[in-house]
Amino acid sequence: MTRHLLWPAPEPAADTPAALPGFDTGAAFVDGRIVPIEEARIPLLDWGFLRSDAFQETVSAWNGRVFRIHDHIARFRRSAERLRMQVRHDDAEIRDIIHALVRVCGFRHAYVQIINTRGRPPVGSRDLRLCESRFQAFCMPYMWLKPPELQDQGMSLHVSPRLRVPPASVDPMVKHYHWLDFEMGLLDAYDAGCETVVLCDGDGNVAEGPGFNIFAVVDGVLTTPARNMLDGMTRRTVLEICCDRGIPVTEGALSPEMLGRATEVFLTTTAGGVVPVTSIDGRAVANGRPGHMTAQLHAAYWQMRDSGAAGDPIDYAAATP
Ligand code: PLP
Repeated sequence: MTRHLLWPAPEPAADTPAALPGFDTGAAFVDGRIVPIEEARIPLLDWGFLRSDAFQETVSAWNGRVFRIHDHIARFRRSAERLRMQVRHDDAEIRDIIHALVRVCGFRHAYVQIINTRGRPPVGSRDLRLCESRFQAFCMPYMWLKPPELQDQGMSLHVSPRLRVPPASVDPMVKHYHWLDFEMGLLDAYDAGCETVVLCDGDGNVAEGPGFNIFAVVDGVLTTPARNMLDGMTRRTVLEICCDRGIPVTEGALSPEMLGRATEVFLTTTAGGVVPVTSIDGRAVANGRPGHMTAQLHAAYWQMRDSGAAGDPIDYAAATP
């Protein structure tokens, strides 16, 4: 598999483990049990489903190591606090569930989502204080915003006239499922011949897209929005890489006009790392190829993942209850 922008992927590990029978396409943790992904069910009356009253955390494993697991669990707790929801499991149990899901699938590269829903109130009640929250999780093969073999082409981006749900209504630092704005923006993007979309905030500045943060090189300076978006784990990682390497970054307003004259644009996401954008609404970004800064940060990110840095190793030989 060609994954990197600039060099070939490492050889597959010789000791890639086998999935347990039935788990080769994924696994889920539902009601305290691990089941094959196709058997996972959620109760219809859970307000996570009926009202999008839920939050999640998307975690990835690469080469058998779960990336920044403690940071992800901390962010999960932050979402729980802000939505005033209980989580049934402590941090160690959540870690064990994530590990067990990846282990039963035998995946070395995995995409794991842990989800807390409000649950449901007693029959006849609409009082959400009476709901008992539920925890579930699932694991799938590692997911890419753009297939790695196509990343050299970069993505085509649509800047949507739709606004992201305002922070005064829904806290963007909660990793929530209020995605209808993104979904409709995505459909608009497809109609416009673009692959993905970015939405603006109420100030008219670019905020974020469906599952990613955005960076741009404007007037020679790497810039990323500072507010009105989720503080993505990949965004944090890129900011840390920049800090380590002495690359100046501005966290501040990024208007669509600035984006239009950017010489480089890239997206950051757990589903693919640093992903170049090479055109915006049909106009090429610079020469229409991933730029130098993008390639440098893409390489640094994947070097980090390949090296196992900040990775919690999965013990594939451990027993799964
Ligand atoms: N913004 C939103 C709205 C997201 O849903 C996500 C991830 O799903 C991101 C940004 C990127 O976050 P991360 O880098 O943690 O994947």
